[in-house]
Amino acid sequence: MSHSSASRIQEFIGDPVSDAPPVKREQLEEIFQDIQGDLRFDHELNGCLNCGICTATCPAAHYYDFSPREIVQLLWTENLEGIYDAMQEKIWSCAQCYTCAARCPFGNSPGGLIMVMRETAIKHGMESAKAVLRPFSRVMLKLISTGNQLSPDMINPEGFADWGPHISKVDAPLALLRKAIPMPTLHTTKTAWEVNLKTSVELYTIWEETGVLDSLETIDENLFDVILDIMDEKRDDYEDWMDEQDDD
Ligand code: SF4
Ligand code: SF4
Repeated sequence: MSHSSASRIQEFIGDPVSDAPPVKREQLEEIFQDIQGDLRFDHELNGCLNCGICTATCPAAHYYDFSPREIVQLLWTENLEGIYDAMQEKIWSCAQCYTCAARCPFGNSPGGLIMVMRETAIKHGMESAKAVLRPFSRVMLKLISTGNQLSPDMINPEGFADWGPHISKVDAPLALLRKAIPMPTLHTTKTAWEVNLKTSVELYTIWEETGVLDSLETIDENLFDVILDIMDEKRDDYEDWMDEQDDD
């Protein structure tokens, strides 16, 4: 996470250390139950020696006020207030590289636990999650509506104003490099990979059934509405296509 992202979160939540958590005990318990109840939790947390090996090998810990050891200890000791505080900023510093998981003598995965905490933050509509995800609304729009993340033409100064002038260093060689890839569908610099209607409609069912759309509605209602419109339109197109096949 960039420093600007960190300060954006800070604007939303104030000082997580000095401010009392603006939530009741029952809500803290509910948040922890959601984390603990996740299928991955018992697999990712087997105990903790508090040895700090994870933090010593963590690249994010070198740059941010962040320690995977601290996060694991909060979970292991069921420190509900501390867990809530960590969810306001610290969990978003993790780069999800999983170096920690490869080194922990207990076989824990601090990065995996942080992912569960992030998903729980989204589920609970925490402002930290909204602030972190807001700059990625274009990516989410593309990913959820087509199944693809970015088309190369989206990586431009207009689309990523927050990258500043450095975007041009990525922009130019990417178009060239892409043309060097043997697969013709990857040559395009105008559109993302083609996704047919049937695949799109199946994808929308997956988003609905797995709760992805519910999460999106919690953190960004406007984007949710836009994506619902796109889904309706594509589903109509697919039904029309099916009717045409029946007529033939
Ligand atoms: S999570 Fe593992 S590596 Fe990190 S402090 Fe605990 S026991 Fe040590
Ligand atoms: S997954 Fe996160 S906590 Fe683990 S080493 Fe990478 S950045 Fe650090």
